[in-house]
Amino acid sequence: MTSKTTFTVAVLIVSTTASKDPSTDSSSVLLRSFFANENESNPSSKWAWSGDIEAKIVSDDQAAIEAAIVEWADKKKINLIVTTGGTGFSVTDCTPEAVRPLLDKEAPGLVHAMLAASLNITPFAMMSRPVAGVRNGSIILTVPGSPKGATENLDAVIKFLPHACGQAASVASSRAMHSGGTKKLEEEAGVRSHRHSHGSSADGGHHHHHHHHGHKAPRPLTTPDQRSNKLDASVTQRYRESPYPMLSVNEANAIIATETRHGKIVEMQVDENLVGYVLAKDVTAAEAVPAFRASIVDGYAIHHTAKAGVYPVVSVSHAAPGTAPPLEPGQVARITTGAPLPAGATAVIMVEDTVLKSSTADGVEEATVELLASGLEPGENVREIGSDVQSGTVILRAGDVISAVGGEIGLLASVGVAKVSVYQKLTVGVLSTGDEVVSHLRPGELKIGEIRDSNRPALLSAIKSAGYPAIDLQIAADKPGALESMLKDALSVVDVIITTGGVSMGELDLLKPTIEQSLDGTIHFGRVAMKPGKPTTFATIGEKKIFALPGNPASALVTFNLFVLPSLRKAAGYEPWELPKVRVVAEQDFPLDPRPEFHRVFVAMRPDGRLGARSTGGQRSSRIGSTMAANAVVALPAKGAVGEKREKVGVIPKGEMVEAILWGQIGGSAV
Ligand code: AMP
Ligand code: MG
Repeated sequence: MTSKTTFTVAVLIVSTTASKDPSTDSSSVLLRSFFANENESNPSSKWAWSGDIEAKIVSDDQAAIEAAIVEWADKKKINLIVTTGGTGFSVTDCTPEAVRPLLDKEAPGLVHAMLAASLNITPFAMMSRPVAGVRNGSIILTVPGSPKGATENLDAVIKFLPHACGQAASVASSRAMHSGGTKKLEEEAGVRSHRHSHGSSADGGHHHHHHHHGHKAPRPLTTPDQRSNKLDASVTQRYRESPYPMLSVNEANAIIATETRHGKIVEMQVDENLVGYVLAKDVTAAEAVPAFRASIVDGYAIHHTAKAGVYPVVSVSHAAPGTAPPLEPGQVARITTGAPLPAGATAVIMVEDTVLKSSTADGVEEATVELLASGLEPGENVREIGSDVQSGTVILRAGDVISAVGGEIGLLASVGVAKVSVYQKLTVGVLSTGDEVVSHLRPGELKIGEIRDSNRPALLSAIKSAGYPAIDLQIAADKPGALESMLKDALSVVDVIITTGGVSMGELDLLKPTIEQSLDGTIHFGRVAMKPGKPTTFATIGEKKIFALPGNPASALVTFNLFVLPSLRKAAGYEPWELPKVRVVAEQDFPLDPRPEFHRVFVAMRPDGRLGARSTGGQRSSRIGSTMAANAVVALPAKGAVGEKREKVGVIPKGEMVEAILWGQIGGSAV
């Protein structure tokens, strides 16, 4: 295998807002994940994007933009410089004006490709004024500031950028790179032009995007940021292809992560209800453990220098409040485990190392005992003050999770901490949508066309058992008004709304238009390259979040675990908040799909000590049974994206290692 050429990337965030408050910048995370994802989905390509992407935030200031670009192009010799923001029509927008004079050569083809792709999505792309070109061996691209616009534009050109970077930097002579003709270049880029579409394809792995050139209904205009069908549009006017750009799962999660802030810091009492919370502040012990010198064994408190011999038992110290009188030399005191040592005692001899010598006259008490051992260490069998926990020390740190094991609660209780500061967990409401959906509790037979609501009880259970407060929002009919009012009511009660259904391409799929047009929400993404779960939609309305999950029951549970749960965990303060990933042995062949697939599996220990993943059976997204007993999903790569040496492309063969994302506990035997 020849070594890969790595191209360096730098990202310039042009945003006056983000330059004042970097926490409002979601573009750098998104773009980093965009390039990482591009590498991941092309493992066998000859090029890779450097994982170390420098990002800088500047305000809409021409001089600052110029300075950053000159530094990157001329000094650091970065291969690809991407700017986001400042390409619109408002007075402050000046990115093209700053960039254009810096270019040695303009690249109108790249500009055309970006505009054409965006125009295909919204006519408001007309309002973007991108420039692209070469300076000093660097390719420079300007993309819009909105995360959606930025990824759409990059998506349109990314496959060609390695060639552009290579040529610009003369990594190879352009003659060598062109030796296979345009066709070879296209193959390397993983695309086919229409001219070759009738030709035989070397492998069936490439996925064609279908461009429908037939009659299109006039596209109703909403606003530049809204893509959904107009709520009052007739069915003839609806989109026939989702207008939302297709994000990768990583990109989608990066957006969710930037939109998810820590919950409010609240004080909570230390008891069993604290399990699953994450500390927001360090906790200091105000008391020592033990708070007094205590015996570790049942026996006799002595001075450690005492020789073997007979001694009077002058007092008794039980594990109870109170103090025993001081011990004089030549005396011993009976003591029980956990009881305070009398002053003057420096060690405890175990009862097993003594014999009773004489009793009191009434025969009830010990008068003298004989010590059979001598030469004890000072402090032997004594817990000194603070030897377990010293007063004033930090016992738990901000970020520590109060686990269900009980250790943290026990530690807090041991030093008398009654309250701690934690991140509040988000409250989640669950709403089912669909005229056909009826409660599983409704008695009587189903009418034709009716289905039982399995999503709501399944999700409510999953949320509650993950430790988050969940609220049942019932079922909404497929009527814009009904949906709007139920969502509005819910927004005043919960932090996160999960809906299921109503995000497909049917004319009654009202979630997206209702969020955008009735609730003034922002849809951050409306399509994800994954199976199941393609129409997964994520929106925010102020600080509130809406996860509009697909209606099919298996899709709903998979997307809940992959998208909603990590967001809840991030808000609750978990670090890392992603679900844990493990490498597992495929216990059978896993067929691959053109989309990255999340195959429900049961992960358990194999006899050889490794973890194995067994499929839960038929993976059709309507089959809720495919999630039964599933404690993980294996993340299967898209067909064709697998390593080049694989003989059986199209399947991960039994015995191969795959990555599994754990949802639940690892159980018993896999086979
Ligand atoms: P939709 O996204 O509304 O087109 O729904 C996709 C599929 O999921 C349809 O077959 C629905 O009937 C089904 N579905 C929607 N909501 C639920 C639910 N709450 N429980 C079970 N199935 C559902
Ligand atoms: Mg529906």
